Amino acid sequence: MPKAVRCCIAGGGPAGMMLGLLLARAGVEVAVLEKHADFLRDFRGDTIHPSTLELMYELGLLEEFLRLPHQKVRRLTGQVGDVPIIIADFSHLPTRCKFFAFMPQWDFPNFLAAQAARYPTFHLRRQAEVSGVIEEAGRVVGVRATTPDGPAEVRAALVVAADGRSSTVREQAGLRPRELGAPMDVLWFRLSRRPTDPEETTGRFDRGRIYIQINRGDHWQCGYVIPKGAAETVRRGSLESFRAEVATVMPFATDRVGELRDWEAVKLLSVQVNRLPQWYRPGLLCIGDAAHAMSPIGGVGINLAIQDAVASANLLVEPLRGGGPTPDDLQRVQRRRLLPTRVIQGLQLLAQRRVITRVLAGTGPLKPALPLRIMARFPVLLRLPGRLIGLGVRPEHVKTPAVPPSVTGSPLPAR
Ligand SMILES: Cc1cc2nc3c(=O)[nH]c(=O)nc-3n(C[C@H](O)[C@H](O)[C@H](O)COP(=O)(O)OP(=O)(O)OC[C@H]3O[C@@H](n4cnc5c(N)ncnc54)[C@H](O)[C@@H]3O)c2cc1C
Repeated sequence: MPKAVRCCIAGGGPAGMMLGLLLARAGVEVAVLEKHADFLRDFRGDTIHPSTLELMYELGLLEEFLRLPHQKVRRLTGQVGDVPIIIADFSHLPTRCKFFAFMPQWDFPNFLAAQAARYPTFHLRRQAEVSGVIEEAGRVVGVRATTPDGPAEVRAALVVAADGRSSTVREQAGLRPRELGAPMDVLWFRLSRRPTDPEETTGRFDRGRIYIQINRGDHWQCGYVIPKGAAETVRRGSLESFRAEVATVMPFATDRVGELRDWEAVKLLSVQVNRLPQWYRPGLLCIGDAAHAMSPIGGVGINLAIQDAVASANLLVEPLRGGGPTPDDLQRVQRRRLLPTRVIQGLQLLAQRRVITRVLAGTGPLKPALPLRIMARFPVLLRLPGRLIGLGVRPEHVKTPAVPPSVTGSPLPAR
């Protein structure tokens, strides 16, 4: 790992890896420090949006990417009580891929890492946990990290915090997000999947409960949405009654709920929705969840993180090749990405208030919300949520230059 690079990125999630790839592809010396030894984070969700697939096309990587095992989802569906609903239709998007690719989330950063490794200016250091920032005269000039070989320092013209919703870099740099509030947490667990099971990745809303099942091929990734702070109450109850509850919403898996042997198998994912008033300081930029933690509603956080990375690369490659980005350059990134973030977070907050809180409270009749009922009558309207979820607001396109990959750069294995 070099001691100095042009850009040092903390965090190898979707935001960090995408930015790392784009900068290396443009010939900028970049280091990504990822605290874990691998990309196997369960919580992230498995959605690769049509807009991200479009970016893969723009990078000339789409065909190779789609060779990874995935499921294509053209319409997002769910169930409210006993009523099946369609939430969004992607089949009319102005993109090459008119579908979501559901893919185990670790495959995506792995793929980006393998592509980035073809460029000699790319450095990925796993098991490197960024613990602090180095400051000189009020400017961030590098990071400190803990590695299996001992402490390390990397200096850079720009440090990017892409280390997620509990960002250490953001905190160490003294940036505080404004909490926008989330009424729920998620209990996250998996059950094995049989060939005779249904195929569908779907969500189910019942009185007092919301339940999500994601088809990951050989297993189901399940999310059980509970009111914020209720995890202790659930865990104080018997595991037997939790298993019975799971069997009620997934009747085909009744014979497998015993796979939940203890509460260790049921992880608590704390949902946050927040946003930094200012995403940067001299020498430092926050992107992805580090700048704006997203609710899981709509499964759009990964998309926003990737779009942030593309916008950052588009706006910062030239300054990084020159004297280094100025605060004005960094402000341009925030200005570019603020509207899309505000709109999507605003819609998530609305859904939290109007749907999630009411369903979890278990009060009132359970029927599809008015917009869903209208869309069921006029399916053409399903294109609007399809656009918001699948493309987002003001989708980004790759505008950065590409240097030829190194003939000696050795790609990492895909997994
Ligand atoms: C329950 C739940 C379900 C979700 N489901 C979906 C979904 O289906 N679709 C969707 O689009 N979004 C979903 N989201 C939101 C999504 O997970 C985030 O918006 C997205 O992962 C943000 O990407 P990121 O790259 O900014 O951060 P992250 O994905 O959090 O990546 C940050 C990376 O930084 C690393 N890191 C952390 N600290 C350090 C450190 N100090 N030093 C070095 N590395 C560090 C982490 O190991 C991680 O690899 C969900 C969120 C929750 C809570």
